[in-house]
Amino acid sequence: MGNFCRFEVLTAPPRPLPLRLVPVFLPFAGCPQRCLYCHQAAQTGQRPVSSADVLGRVEHALSQVQGPASVGLYGGSFTALPEALQRQVLECVLRHMDTWGARGQVRLSTRPDAVSPQLLGRLRRWGVDVVELGVQSFDSAVLARSGRGYTGAQAHAACRMVHDAGLGLGIQLLPGLPGHTQAHWQEDVERTLAAAPKVVRIYPCVVVGGTPLARLHAEGRYRPWELQATVELVAEVLPRLWRRGIRVIRVGLAPQPGFLLQAGPWHPALGNMARSVAMARMLTRAVGARRVERMIAPRWVQGDLWGHGRANAPVLARLGIVPQRVTFDANEGIRIWTV
Ligand code: SF4
Repeated sequence: MGNFCRFEVLTAPPRPLPLRLVPVFLPFAGCPQRCLYCHQAAQTGQRPVSSADVLGRVEHALSQVQGPASVGLYGGSFTALPEALQRQVLECVLRHMDTWGARGQVRLSTRPDAVSPQLLGRLRRWGVDVVELGVQSFDSAVLARSGRGYTGAQAHAACRMVHDAGLGLGIQLLPGLPGHTQAHWQEDVERTLAAAPKVVRIYPCVVVGGTPLARLHAEGRYRPWELQATVELVAEVLPRLWRRGIRVIRVGLAPQPGFLLQAGPWHPALGNMARSVAMARMLTRAVGARRVERMIAPRWVQGDLWGHGRANAPVLARLGIVPQRVTFDANEGIRIWTV
């Protein structure tokens, strides 16, 4: 019997949002404390901002932007700012969006213990589309060790509140915090899937100079995850998030001038590395002992398919996936024909 051709559609990262996202960083704005690992100035390249300067910072940042774009207010605990200031900032964002023609999304990040149904309802009325919660972990013991000040149950409740207010939910995770094991990571991913966010950010814990975590590390009381293990652990969970249509919009901290990395699993292409490992594994499993005759993939996965520095090319070639057999288009899913 001759070989028959089999057609399959595999999961790929969901289509990126149509408009680019302009982040406006408001380091530590509203934060009630400095968390163990956090050094916003070094992580965002922006000076800390006081409440009095928040509006000016947003106004200045958006006046440089050529729209249309979505806007994200990040780097602090937006919902812990005074209510009148939150409103002024959001009015400022919408005013700029009006001048850009198309209305993008308004996003902001905050702590899970700095939201309430009333506050979220107000944000919705004031034009916010997505609230990203800096959950970090759903494990109460891990949260306590990092002095986060809320429990896993509170993080859950906050996720539900965001949904109930009719807002899009974002979840930020920080695998590798002190006491955070691989088992906690698997559990956090389960809980994230159950919370059904629209977007997820994964920031594997790194040691930034000048933080209390840097001191713990220097004293030998904290050991960060290894880079390669982190890539593997993130790669393992990405397809599960993609299958639910969850966009993983960031993996790892963006490189910033003056970023004082002391230790930990940081690489400027960490997301690209994890996504390409995930894709190579998915394809290897799907193709098995067969060979790919033809493949059509979404154009937004092109860089991830071949991998950082074309790291995936040898393993893909063994499956028959070589550039001559691959085309890219604007559809979702990786379509393969195997014999
Ligand atoms: S981790 Fe979040 S809440 Fe903690 S200091 Fe940094 S920005 Fe503020």
